[in-house]
This record gives sequence, C-alpha cells and structure tokens, in this order.
Amino acid sequence: MRNPLLENWTTRFEIPPFVRITDDHFAPAFDQAFRQSRAAVKAIAEDPATPGFANTIEALERADALMDRVAGVFFNLTGANSNPALEELQRDLSPKFADLHSETMMNAALFARVDKLFQNKDTLGLTAEQSRVLELYHRMFLRAGAALKGEDRTRLAKVTKRLAVLGTAFTQNLLADERDWFMQLGKGDLDGLPDFLRDAAAQAAKERDKGGYAITLSRSLIVPFLQFSSRRDLREKAYLAWGARGENGGDTDNLAIVTETLALREIRAHLLGYASFADFKLAPEMAKTPEAVRDLLMAVWKPAKAQADRDAEILTDMMHSEGVNGDLEPWDWRHYAAKRRLAEHDLNEAELKPYFQLNRMIDAAFDCANRLFGLTFHALDVPLYHADARAWEVRKDGKHLAVFIGDYFARPAKRSGAWCSRFRSQSRLDGEVRPITVNVCNFAKAPEGQPSLLTFDDAHTLFHEFGHALHSMLSDVTYQMIAGTSVARDFVELPSQLFEHWLTVPEVLQEFATHAQTGVNIPQDLLERLLAARNFDQGFATVEYTASALVDLDFHAGVAPADPMAKQAETLARLGMPHAIRMRHATPHFAHVFAGDGYSSGYYSYMWSEVMDADAFEAFEEAGNAFDPELAARLERHIYSAGGSKEADALYTAFRGKMPGVEALLKGRGLDESA
Ligand SMILES: [Zn+2]
Repeated sequence: MRNPLLENWTTRFEIPPFVRITDDHFAPAFDQAFRQSRAAVKAIAEDPATPGFANTIEALERADALMDRVAGVFFNLTGANSNPALEELQRDLSPKFADLHSETMMNAALFARVDKLFQNKDTLGLTAEQSRVLELYHRMFLRAGAALKGEDRTRLAKVTKRLAVLGTAFTQNLLADERDWFMQLGKGDLDGLPDFLRDAAAQAAKERDKGGYAITLSRSLIVPFLQFSSRRDLREKAYLAWGARGENGGDTDNLAIVTETLALREIRAHLLGYASFADFKLAPEMAKTPEAVRDLLMAVWKPAKAQADRDAEILTDMMHSEGVNGDLEPWDWRHYAAKRRLAEHDLNEAELKPYFQLNRMIDAAFDCANRLFGLTFHALDVPLYHADARAWEVRKDGKHLAVFIGDYFARPAKRSGAWCSRFRSQSRLDGEVRPITVNVCNFAKAPEGQPSLLTFDDAHTLFHEFGHALHSMLSDVTYQMIAGTSVARDFVELPSQLFEHWLTVPEVLQEFATHAQTGVNIPQDLLERLLAARNFDQGFATVEYTASALVDLDFHAGVAPADPMAKQAETLARLGMPHAIRMRHATPHFAHVFAGDGYSSGYYSYMWSEVMDADAFEAFEEAGNAFDPELAARLERHIYSAGGSKEADALYTAFRGKMPGVEALLKGRGLDESA
C-alpha cells in the first residue's frame, strides 16, 4: 500500500494531500520517520570528517525532514480534528518522541562535535545567523542534559519520558471532559438570551444530535451565556462545569497528573543544576529569573485588584437592587458586568454582534496585513482535513510567501482555545521553503445559510492568532531552528498581541464592521461607544489572568507542592483573590502549564509581551498613523521576519530604540490611575 505521508507531495504548494491520508497511514510513516531521524543522527555523530558547521549543525537541521512532515500533519489533526484512533497513537508516540530526543541530546559523540564547534565559534568564519544557530543548538544540548554524567543521564531521560506521557494524558483528559459536557436547554430556559446566542445554541444542539438548545464549554458559547442568561441557577451550573474540567474524578481527572508532573519537573531542574524548575525554565527567556517575573506580575496585580474590588462592590449593589441577596458569585460577575456596560456605555453584545461577521473580520485582518506589509490573499480551492477549514495563498509584492489555513469553528473533535501552528516552517538551507501556517479557533458556527458572527472578544482572538501567523509567514531566515515563532516564550506573544491593536483602529472598524443583514457600516456613535468601553472590566480580566500566572510561578519557583490544590488556595489567599473572580485557568485544566512544557512557569509571558506590544503600538500613535510605512517596515524587518535571529531584547531595541517600562501596559488597560 502506498503511503502518501512518505511520498513527495506534488499538490499545489506541497499542501499535505489530506484526502489521501487515512488514520492508518500515520503509524507506519512514524516508524519510517523515527528510523530516518535516528540514522541521520548516527551518521552525523560518527562522521569521520572534522566537525564543521555544515557537517554537524546543518546536518542536524536536515535530520528530521521526514519527521517534521509527518508530525506536522499528525499533531495538527490531533488538536483540530481528533478521533480515538489518533488519540491512541498519540499516547503511543509521546514516550517514543521523548526517547528519540533524549538519545539525540545524550549522544556523547554528537555533543562533543557541537561543543567543539561552540568553543571555536569565533574561528569558523560563521555568519551572524549561523553563530546564533550554533549557540542555540549548544544551549539545547546542555539544557537537555548532554553534559550530565553517569546515573544522572539515565535518570533525566526517564523523567523526561514520563513527563511527555503525563502531558499527553493531561491534554486528552481535558479534551474528553470538554467534548462530553453540554447543558441542554428547553424553550423555558432561554431567559435573557439574544437571538444570536439562541441560534448558536440550537446549532450546537443539532451537532450533538439533540433537539432544543445546548450550551457547551466552548468559550464562544459559555461566555455570552454567562453574560446574558438571567437564570442564576443555570449560570451557576454552566460556570461550575466550565471550572471543573479536569477535576471530575474518574478516568479523566488531572489532579494526580499535576502532582506528579510538578515533582518530576523539580527533579529535572535539580539534575540540571538549577534551584527550581522556574529557574531552569526562565534562564533562556527575556525575564531570566523568577524574581523578575514576580516583580512584573505584582506591579500589575496591585492596581488590578484595587480596581476589581471597587467593581465588585458596584456589581454587588446592582445584584441586590434586583432583589437577589447574598454575595456576588463568580457566575454573577459577567452577567452584572454586561448590565453595567450597558448602563454606563450604552453597549451590549447583542447590538454589536451583527457587525462582527467572521468573513468581514478575516478581510479586516488581511487588509491590515496588506497595508502594513504588502501582503495579498488569494483563496485556494484545495481539499483540507475538514470541510470548515479554508486556505489562501499569501503573496508579498506579487511573489508567493506562504499558505494560510483558517479553521475557525468549534466542533467536538477540536480541543478548546485558539492557536497558531504550522504544517511547514520557513527555511532556505536547501532552497527556499515557504511556510504553511494554520490558525485554529473555536468560534460558534452559524446555522446553515447564515453568516457566522463573532463577539468583539472573538474578533480579538482572530487578530491575535493572525498576528502569530504573520510572524510565521513573514519569516525570512536560513535555518528552521530560528524560523518564525521560534523565539523566547515571553517574546512570542508580541507579534500576536501587537496585531490586536489594529482591530481597534477606528478606520478599520469603520470599513469592515458591517451589518450582517443590512450591509450597513457600523454607525459612528456605536463605534465610539465600543471604543470608549475598551478598558471596561479590565480589573476582572487582569485579576483572573494574573492570578493564574502567579499560581503557575508559585508551583515552579520553590519546592514542588505535594498538594497542588492546597498550594493554589494558599497563593490565592495570600494575594487576596476577590471572592467573585476565579483563575482564568484553574490548575486541573491549565493546559498552558500541564499539557507540555510550553508555558510552564511561562504563563506570565502574555503580560511580559504586553509590556512591549503596548509600547510598540504607541510608536504608531506617536507617528499619528496606524499604518506608518516607515515604522511598518522596521516592524517587519526587526520583529515579524526576524524569527529568533537575535536575542529578543536586541530585536525589540532595534525596532524601538530602547526597552519599555510597564507604564504603557497599565495605561492600555486603564489601570494607571487606580493604584
Ligand atoms: Zn498567542
């Protein structure tokens, strides 16, 4: 049987031939890919020739060519369109990946070559980019334990492997909890729900072969439900289910996984010579130390909590005036905040909603990319992995730049959240390889024949993920090691969060926020009310985020807690967490931190990057033109196309001249005067 994953793809732009790929192609393709990667590493390590950049580092860049291709397809599918067969294979694969990585990193002959090159770096006649890539390889080997001796080596390999298994289990448990839960509503349960939400809930019920209406745990459904439903009992039920993901007892409970993960991370850090896992994780980041992270988070926490406490009093009064007694609870906050926004800013989601059509917001993001970076987007008629996913060819100055795939709608086989990933990265080591980048979101799909509508929050998400996509697609480097989003974790949210600022540029909304039924552009006065309310409820948003980031930091910055939930409670009590606000991601479903290593002791990264994105957008404001061509060119050169070619602060300073303080961030969130 021919396996399309092992063939050269002759499809347009070498887009994976999804229609020919079936689930059973993956296991044999991975077998072959593991063999090829191992053989390539062995050949490099045993090469009799003197170690040089080409026969060592460039050879390593090529070693996983097949693996990258197969894994690119596989992991995008397990996130966006999974099924039990793929999930089972994913569980099988995670220890195998950990083994391969450990073997490569612990290959003494290979590390000796990399180390020798690194020691003689200045005599090799390397370009700046090559020198940077060599440094990063050397650092990767050291951080994976290449310099460890004796028993410590095997111990670290075991720990790393177990951590990979735990991360996969955590993710799959979460997906199962999210997939299984929904709340079916009858006609009598819809009090307060506007039409768009009724339509979306009817569609969600239909997708689950149910009649009536269903509220799922997808953010695009549950958040508006919590805002609009006047049924406090149903809000409570939905909110508690949302907050209990990963913590439902039984097979899919994540608490034991969390505890073991934290303990193993501590062992890993100690083996590598670090005082704590946070010290280990933060060393290569911009922040460098747990103290620097804590300083930033606490600088923001204080004014945010003060604001949230004041807001809680106002919302409590509103609730009492409706005759509802007792404390304001977490399932009340969004409901009364929405009412307050209506009262203070004359703004409600139902009035806004028809102006935020998904297709128009995609056009808006494309148009901003055109005005800033000269990109054009051309719809491609190619079969993808799901009928809802769409593809565009992206051109720059008339030349092919990338393929962009947008997969926007929630469905049961997709994990929650929104993300940007890729089927292929940019490089030019062996001729120009252009990226295939994908944005995956969980927006509510409209019933057949109607345009899908976003919340303003969804529109931000769309711009955010598209900012990551631009970072990936504009990449202009030689080596995949530093391509696109391969940058420090606390820098990677800069291109995405910065791009969100263009959504709120008035001329962008004036053009693209058009009414779904009438086609009329958003009225000036509604636009003004929307922008005036931009910082509304930032106390809440900042508190729920910062609390999560501080819990993440506390988990990793000291001794690993034997009872993480007790540790979480202790941190929240110390902070004085407001009663009616909970963490944005509670520990048992905190996928950023426990689905893998990605954002572990790194959830602060969004805020670290926000310090820069707030300051970076100020540059455009100072210029008096959100599309200032000279600034846009600098932004492209030093940030969006530069990948990880330099240290992150050098990239930022090249764009802006200096590193920013926290002031622009506080101002951006409307928290600058509330301290
Ligand atoms: Zn992001």
